[in-house]
Amino acid sequence: MLSLQDCQALDRADPLRVLKDQFVCPPGVMYLDGNSLGVMPKATPGRIRQVVEQEWGQGLIRSWNSAGWVDWPAQIGDKVARLVGAGPNELVVTDSTSVNLFKVLSAALAMARHDAPQRDQVLSERSNFPTDLYMAQSLCQQHGMRLVLVDDMALAPALSERVAVLMLTHVNYRTGAMHDMAALDAQAKAKGILTVWDLAHSAGAVEVDLRGSGADFAVGCGYKYLNGGPGAPAFVWVNAQHASRFWQPLSGWWGHERPFAFTPGYVPAQGIARYLCGTPPVISLAALDEGVNTVLAAEPLGGMPALRKKSVALCETFIALVEQCCADHGLRLVSPRDAAQRGSQLSWCFDTPAPQALAVSQAYAVVQALMARGVVGDFRAGDGASQPDLMRFGFTPLYIGFETVWQAVMHLKAVLDHREWQRPQFQQVQTVT
Ligand SMILES: *Cc1c(COP(=O)(O)O)cnc(C)c1O
Repeated sequence: MLSLQDCQALDRADPLRVLKDQFVCPPGVMYLDGNSLGVMPKATPGRIRQVVEQEWGQGLIRSWNSAGWVDWPAQIGDKVARLVGAGPNELVVTDSTSVNLFKVLSAALAMARHDAPQRDQVLSERSNFPTDLYMAQSLCQQHGMRLVLVDDMALAPALSERVAVLMLTHVNYRTGAMHDMAALDAQAKAKGILTVWDLAHSAGAVEVDLRGSGADFAVGCGYKYLNGGPGAPAFVWVNAQHASRFWQPLSGWWGHERPFAFTPGYVPAQGIARYLCGTPPVISLAALDEGVNTVLAAEPLGGMPALRKKSVALCETFIALVEQCCADHGLRLVSPRDAAQRGSQLSWCFDTPAPQALAVSQAYAVVQALMARGVVGDFRAGDGASQPDLMRFGFTPLYIGFETVWQAVMHLKAVLDHREWQRPQFQQVQTVT
């Protein structure tokens, strides 16, 4: 049995607890949604003010050089690279995850068409994040290829000589299930298949070794575990072996070899710079930089391995407390029970349908009732068939402690014990869930 005192003792023994001071944590909020939108760093408003009032307001156009704006996509990219096992000059921050996925999948398809023209399939997972599938659908249509979607367990057998690209999200947004990147990269390579990884739920949450695993392409998100703010620029990485071999089709001037030569013909920059497109969003980049700095601040305390260790401990504590306190409410853990096979989130569903007809899913209503108590998680609808409606809770080790986990589970217990979720105000459907 775990007690509040046990959780407080875990916090006292946690060498990473000092990192929470980097963030604005609204009082009374137990924020278990850093997997959707990271918390704001305290340094961000001041940095934005500096960029707006000084660098833009006073420096004006000169700040591209004097404040170094021109170098930020590469400089911040080098910082993100340290978190995902990439080298310097291999990764840039730019555009959105969706757009970057378009670029790398296009480049991968161009490579495949050149090196292995008989291959006509892109393979992915049915439960991949929708935008990834939508982008792949569009590209497959343009390239006359077929997008093949299978379940997790069927991936390995589907790696055939017809597959050009294996496109996966490393940590599943619904279940938190994590693929073995190195194993899949090795299997794909053995079959001559290129790999594209989406690290949206991985960067800043779990250890990733892009170089070591032999991946070909990767993209990832700036506003989740990297705390870059809503709509923050995303990142894109290409294995150095390929980076200069093929173009990506969004051939904007920032990806040109000499953008300020203003020549009419496009010549792509060498290396990862050709994955830039238009003028970078400087104010958003400043916020992303501060977000990435909060993760790098863990480096002297053990870095990503230490963050991962704490994330696993937080998740294990949450599971143990739910099993201890909410056992008779029909909750089922949908995320893998083995911590090595999941990322930094836990998803739960209700095994038995709610005892009375509801306007919304019980999982949705429980999430709303928790929100009213200050526990912020989120809801992801199922497909009405094999995929259940989910309550998702993300655990960001930078700013979540064990006492917060305790409190969150006690609120969950209260919501369930007192059937608070049945109240009408928790059955209003919001636009963003
Ligand atoms: C969050 C997320 C995205 C977001 O893409 P945007 O272009 O930023 O909207 C894409 N893919 C995955 C897997 C995600 O989790």
